[in-house]
Amino acid sequence: MMIVGSPEQTEALLLAGEIPCPDCSVQLRPHGHARTRTVRGQGDERLTLQPRRARCTSCRRTQVLLPAALSVRRADTLEVIGAALAAKAGGSGYRTIAARMGRPLSTVRRWLRRVPEKHAHWLYGQAVQHAFRLDPEILVRPKRWPSLLGWSLNVLAGAALAHRRWVGTDLPPWTLIGLFTRGNLLSPPLRI
Ligand SMILES: [Zn+2]
Repeated sequence: MMIVGSPEQTEALLLAGEIPCPDCSVQLRPHGHARTRTVRGQGDERLTLQPRRARCTSCRRTQVLLPAALSVRRADTLEVIGAALAAKAGGSGYRTIAARMGRPLSTVRRWLRRVPEKHAHWLYGQAVQHAFRLDPEILVRPKRWPSLLGWSLNVLAGAALAHRRWVGTDLPPWTLIGLFTRGNLLSPPLRI
């Protein structure tokens, strides 16, 4: 699986042979589609997408090109999950967040459990790396947050806004954060 930006832009890049294989760097070619997914956005909003599937012309491996607005194996958009994490970083508990967002308690608790301290450290590392590349000023005086998760999200948001400014894209900030974190805003489940 590869995390990509907008579906339209990805399609154009794929057709132009400009998306390299993550394993061997040779160009990927269109190879059908993955199953259609409908995920929940903010409020009653629903997002239906059929991610592109692509195949490497050399090693023949196939990849699903998952738009970063979705989140890997979750039924809600990255924006929704990100808003829950931001609320947690701001001091809210899962009951408050679930009530405010209209999501089941168990769902919200599952999201919040996927950002243990170790993962917050990883997120912070990604945030610093992208902020440094885009606008080191972001790192000079980050707003004080009581938790590492809060700092990380704050720096990631700063990097996303800097990216929009410099690159001139209109991708939403959470989509950019999904790209910066390569689909791992939540830590991936352990493989057993
Ligand atoms: Zn390959």
